[in-house]
Amino acid sequence: MDLNQVRFFSIWQRLTVVMGGGVFSLVGLVDLSSGSWAARAFYAFIFVFGAAIAVLGARAGVFADDKGVLQRAVGLSKYIFWCDVSKVSVGPGDGMAPATIAPVLEKVDGSSVVLLSAASYGASTEARMRMQSQRDQLEVLRLRHLKNCNQCRLDRAEKA
Ligand SMILES: [Zn+2]
Repeated sequence: MDLNQVRFFSIWQRLTVVMGGGVFSLVGLVDLSSGSWAARAFYAFIFVFGAAIAVLGARAGVFADDKGVLQRAVGLSKYIFWCDVSKVSVGPGDGMAPATIAPVLEKVDGSSVVLLSAASYGASTEARMRMQSQRDQLEVLRLRHLKNCNQCRLDRAEKA
């Protein structure tokens, strides 16, 4: 397997967020043309807020190379260096819809980061295989990082 970088995203998550944000901004836009200035200011805010959610939703995803993993989400985006990751696995995407599974970065310090921006909503065989494939591709990048990273080599030398 030869890859320098990967990007995954959850199509359903993107669609849901983009549509939700889009409807929100449309409601704001439609009501923008009437009413008092205070009401118009309020709907202008709704429009901008909805549009921002839609744009962020369209950009959500997981992007990885041999340095680390960027999880871009509607809320907080997060960058995790491979130096801090001991293992990539597949696990439940907690706190979301039932049967959600997602790639999980298990960190050296014992905590873990669920890559919800790449989650699969459903535990079908096909979904599981897709998550497994994402895990494998991330693991390839992590192993390549281990080979090339001076910092990681230093870490291991200190532990030895
Ligand atoms: Zn490293």
